[in-house]
Amino acid sequence: MSKPSLFLKSQNMFFGEHFGGMFVPENLKDALLELAKAYENILPTPQFQNTFKDLCTHFIGRPTPLIFAKNASAILGNEIYLKFEGLANTGAHKINNALGQVLLAKMMGKTKAIAETGAGQHGLATASACAKLGLECHIYMGAKDVRRQRPNVFNMELLGAHVHAVEKGDQGLKDAVDEALRAWSEQVASTHYVLGSAVGPYPYPDLVRDLQSVIGKELKEQIKGYFEGLPDMLVACIGGGSNAMGFFSAFLEDWGCALYGIEGGGRGTNLGEHATRMRPGKKMAIAHGFQSIFIQDDQGNLAKTHSISAGLDYVGIGPQIAHLENIGRLHCLSARDEEALHALQFFAKHEGIIAALESSHALAGVLELSKSVKNKKIIAHVSGRGDKDIFITAKHAHPQRWLEFLEHETLELREKLNS
Ligand SMILES: *Cc1c(COP(=O)(O)O)cnc(C)c1O
Repeated sequence: MSKPSLFLKSQNMFFGEHFGGMFVPENLKDALLELAKAYENILPTPQFQNTFKDLCTHFIGRPTPLIFAKNASAILGNEIYLKFEGLANTGAHKINNALGQVLLAKMMGKTKAIAETGAGQHGLATASACAKLGLECHIYMGAKDVRRQRPNVFNMELLGAHVHAVEKGDQGLKDAVDEALRAWSEQVASTHYVLGSAVGPYPYPDLVRDLQSVIGKELKEQIKGYFEGLPDMLVACIGGGSNAMGFFSAFLEDWGCALYGIEGGGRGTNLGEHATRMRPGKKMAIAHGFQSIFIQDDQGNLAKTHSISAGLDYVGIGPQIAHLENIGRLHCLSARDEEALHALQFFAKHEGIIAALESSHALAGVLELSKSVKNKKIIAHVSGRGDKDIFITAKHAHPQRWLEFLEHETLELREKLNS
């Protein structure tokens, strides 16, 4: 039997027949076509590649380690390894993409970068990349998210970014994207839009995957230090799909290596309680500039989603991820909020690693898979570290002590402000 086509890159902007495309208003088409040209003509040049490689080493801190999880392996009956992007500058894989896009923008002659951000991680990475490479940085963030994620806003401003609180609509990520795109359309000549995941119109899904593929290439070299041949399974969490595509990229053609993507299972299976897009009865839509699977209500409106991790609550899924699942190359599972928290604690206690809540979904996937498979070589992608999640994890694990801490802080600050 012949294997279905993997579409390692999109063809005519699509992965397979269905997924991808460039569905945008006319005023953005020219800017995207200009970016597509830069992706095709500047990205592959030695000038770009060598500069990017140098920044990866001396600014991001690559290579990030591949860690043999010895204690977890003994308990779970599999050989488990962790690729730890949490040690990258700014704490997650997002910097690979942000830095690569800002470098590309600079080589295109742009002087400004615009980005949307939800919880703030992509905004932080973009602000950091702009500070390093000397571009003016504008981050659009829903006003509600600004209030909820104040520490990230402080850090973005520390890095020199202008953070614009978007007061429209629900004041969330969707409104931030709309406003960022509006701002971009008014200044495309000077400005690059730094998209944060392997989603959106062409060329973003290809561009973001290629920039993140540094993870998978490194991994393929690093495993030689541990064993011969290929791992049996790779496991990554899937928000839009950028960490997963980067991690999987070098292994797509190795059909003997099974690929698992773990989605945010949230707190239940009703609409609005989860972000599990790849479920039975899943539906296609065109939104946010591309065609893919999106969670929708009965009328076909994009639905509300929930996940304990802000990075996994996107309503759609990257087109290449959707294609790989569609042809059976990628298996999608989900982990619920509670399962992710449990996995976070398990790997913290046994391996000394505090994973991001997003990455903890991949770790929950490893715990789940280990119930039915034994003696396999499993590599999990720990896409980020968990420092940023203290406001969620502390509230959950130690609500009373966390409250006491906050009350103490508040009291002290109030006294200082009143004196
Ligand atoms: C944003 C984020 C994700 C989810 O985004 P992808 O594009 O699916 O990778 C996963 N892990 C971490 C640590 C993140 O910050």
